Amino acid sequence: MMRIKVALSLIYIVLAAGCSEKRPVDSMTDEQLRAFADELAHKFIIADGHVDFPERLKENKIVLTEETKSIVLTDIGGEFDYERSKKGGLNAPFMSIYIPASYQKQNDMGKPFADSLINNVKAIASLFPDKFALAHSPTEVEANFKAGKISLPLGMENGAPIGNDLANVKYFYDRGIRYITLTHNKDNQICDSSGDTSHTWNGLSPFGREVVAEMNRVGIMVDISHVDDSTFYQVMKLTKVPCIASHSSCRTFAPTVRRNMTDEMIKKLGENGGVMMINYYNAFIDSAVVNRNNANRKKLNALLTEKGLTLTDAQAKPIIEQFKKDNPSLKSDINMVVNHIDHVVQLAGIDHVGIGSDFDGVEGDLPTGLEDVSTYPNLIYTLLKRGYSEEDIAKICYRNIWRVWNKVEQVAKTS
Ligand SMILES: [Zn+2]
Repeated sequence: MMRIKVALSLIYIVLAAGCSEKRPVDSMTDEQLRAFADELAHKFIIADGHVDFPERLKENKIVLTEETKSIVLTDIGGEFDYERSKKGGLNAPFMSIYIPASYQKQNDMGKPFADSLINNVKAIASLFPDKFALAHSPTEVEANFKAGKISLPLGMENGAPIGNDLANVKYFYDRGIRYITLTHNKDNQICDSSGDTSHTWNGLSPFGREVVAEMNRVGIMVDISHVDDSTFYQVMKLTKVPCIASHSSCRTFAPTVRRNMTDEMIKKLGENGGVMMINYYNAFIDSAVVNRNNANRKKLNALLTEKGLTLTDAQAKPIIEQFKKDNPSLKSDINMVVNHIDHVVQLAGIDHVGIGSDFDGVEGDLPTGLEDVSTYPNLIYTLLKRGYSEEDIAKICYRNIWRVWNKVEQVAKTS
């Protein structure tokens, strides 16, 4: 059976290479292709693994004011709002309940802070019930999609609010959290971070091992974005279900960025059945940008030191502004993001890649063509141009993350 399969796929490869089979999109004009990409963006559900919008809602309790309305519906700043989501075809942005590493030192404060951000997201759904709705499963997102509403699933970035009490995993599941990024850019009580060099646990802590098992049991997806490589491999050994990287890019294109994933890690996540959702941030996706930014930072520091100033001095402000004008930070572009998608497909296959923009989390430092949530059609257009099929695009937009999410739910229900 195996041999027949191999032989058949060889024939297919030969045929595919030999006769350049025309796809319907090949005969489209550029304008038609753009229109088709836009159609697909609205036909398929688009899920984004990481949108840092809740952080922009600074208040603890969101009430309906003109300001709230403008932030949520048509904000002039930021990268996420209702109007632009509708335009771009975004249906399920995972709202990041982001807990800064400073809360790890004060565990008792992490939980109420997480709760306040969760309350903010819930408030959006109740203030604008015809536009937004909460969602706790792919089925609920699909129902919201049919009703024309944008779903607001919840992911918690940093497991610090779990504190030292395993019961908090279930607590946050009950509050609606469906993935937890084990840590942020510092080691925490669960595991080591890629942004820290302390190697506190050499991977997962003993408590962290229990947390992963409890997340599997309860039905919360394990998110390995931000973790140290050692943590990643230990999670891969321990988990009973596929995992996600909610917003991670490939290290091969920016080798000094430790939070990016190596080729070996990408393959391993594929074997686990998981999905890697690509982060758009300029400084993660392109080593040319990383190097230029570093060089600029050094140049600016030297300039200020020469004048006896530091970055935070009031007199330094006009100098910094002029410097930024003379030395604009380099931007990457949409093609680079698609290079990351291609790379994951080559290493792990089309079933293991998705979108994890990090919108509202990177101070607007985003590639040309992917500036905000209205730009998903641009991504689809670029994928079509590179030969991705409709089915491939549906997988990238939502089917891959759906598979993982459903599996995690199903295993939790039967365990
Ligand atoms: Zn992050």
